Amino acid sequence: MNRFVYADNAATTPMSESVFEAMKPFLTEFYGNPSSLYRIGREARRAVTEARMKVARALNAKDPSEIIFTGGGSQADNLAIRGYVKGRSARGKKHIITSKIEHHAVLYTCEALEKEGYPVTYLDVDAQGHVDLEQLKSVITDQTALVTIMAANNEIGTIQNLKAISEIAHAHGAVFHTDAVQAVGHMPLDVQEMGIDMLSLSAHKFRGPKGIGALYVRRGIALEPLVYGGGQERGLASGTENVAGMVGLGQAIEDATGEHLAEKMGYVKKLTDRLVRGIMDAIPYTHYTGDPVNRLPGTASFVFEAIEGEGLILRLDLAGICGSTGSACSTGSLDPSHVLMAIGLPHEIAHGSLRLTLGEQNTEEDVDYLIENVTKVVETLRAMSPVWVDGKPDLTAASDLHDDHHHHH
Ligand SMILES: *Cc1c(COP(=O)(O)O)cnc(C)c1O
Repeated sequence: MNRFVYADNAATTPMSESVFEAMKPFLTEFYGNPSSLYRIGREARRAVTEARMKVARALNAKDPSEIIFTGGGSQADNLAIRGYVKGRSARGKKHIITSKIEHHAVLYTCEALEKEGYPVTYLDVDAQGHVDLEQLKSVITDQTALVTIMAANNEIGTIQNLKAISEIAHAHGAVFHTDAVQAVGHMPLDVQEMGIDMLSLSAHKFRGPKGIGALYVRRGIALEPLVYGGGQERGLASGTENVAGMVGLGQAIEDATGEHLAEKMGYVKKLTDRLVRGIMDAIPYTHYTGDPVNRLPGTASFVFEAIEGEGLILRLDLAGICGSTGSACSTGSLDPSHVLMAIGLPHEIAHGSLRLTLGEQNTEEDVDYLIENVTKVVETLRAMSPVWVDGKPDLTAASDLHDDHHHHH
C-alpha cells in the first residue's frame, strides 16, 4: 500500500492547525481595513501590530517598527537589495557583493541591477557551500554598499557564518543583508548578536501561509520603496494589509521559534540522520552534498551517479513521495542547479540530484518508506541507464548521454 510522504519542506510546508485557527477570524469576522476607524478596522490594526511584535521578538529586533511585512520572501529580498542601493543610506555607493549560490530572488535582482550600472561581485563557495571569506575580504572596498549572503542554502542546507560576514561588511562601512528564508524557524537567529542589518523571511517555509513575509530593517536604514501607494509598511510596501496573512505569520513564527525550536531541531535532525545513513548505506555511487555538520536539520541532499533527477522525482511521485531535484529540465533549464555547479560537481553527475527535506510532521515510518523507495527507484533507473555498466557508472558514456539530453530541447 502506498503511503503519502511529503519530504519537500524546503519548497513549502503544510500550514499548521494553530496558524489556520489564528487566521480564521481575520478572514471572516474582522475583515475591516486596518486604516479604517471603526471597530472591525481597529481590530485588524491591533492584530497587525501584535503580529509585528511577534516577528520582532522572534528575531530579537530592538523594535517592532524594524519589521516590514512583504508579499513573501522574494519581495523581501527585492526590497532589501534594490531598496538599499537606490535609497538614501547607500549615499551613492553602488558595489554589491553576493554569492554564487543565492536564491534567484537575490541573484536575479543583482543581475537586473548590474544592467542598471551597479557593479556586482559573486563570491565563490567551497565544496561544502561556504562562501569564501578570504575572497570577500579581498573584493570588499569602501565603495561597497551592500553584502547580501543567504543564512542557509535551500538546496544543500549549508549554514553560513553570518557573524563573520557581518563583521567584514561593517569593517568596510557596508550593510549586511541575509536571505534567511530557509533558516527562520529552523535554526536560532538573533539579528543583534549576529550583526544583521536586514533579514528576509517567508511564512510558508515554517508552516505559515504563502504570500506573506517580512524584511527586518535595522533602525536608521532608509530604503527606497518597493511599491508606491497608500503608504502602508512605513511607505515601503504600500497596499491594503494582508491582515490574515500577517496574523498567520505572527502565529507561525511564535510556534516555530523560542523554546520550541531546540526540541524540534533535535527531532528533525534525528529523522534526517536516519534517512541519510539509510540511503548512503543502501545506494553505492552516491554523494552527500553540503556541509555534513553545519547544515539545516531537515535537509538531506544527494547526488546519485548515472541517473537523471527528473525521472527520479516522477517515479517517487508514483510511490506517493514528494521530493525535489536541482536538475530541472521541466523548468526549461538545460543546466543542473547553479548551486551544485558552484560547489564543483561535474555537470554529468549533478543531473542526478535529490533533495529530501523533512519537517516536524514527518515520522520514522516516513523515513523508512523514503529509504526503501528511493533505493528501489535508483536501482530501476540505473538498470535502464546507458551510463550504468556492470554495476557501476561508466564515465566514458557520460558525454554521449549529455549530448542526448541537449537534443531533446
Ligand atoms: C523560498 C525561498 C525564497 C522565496 O520565498 P517566497 O516566499 O516563495 O517568495 C527566497 N529565498 C530562499 C532561500 C527560499 O528558500
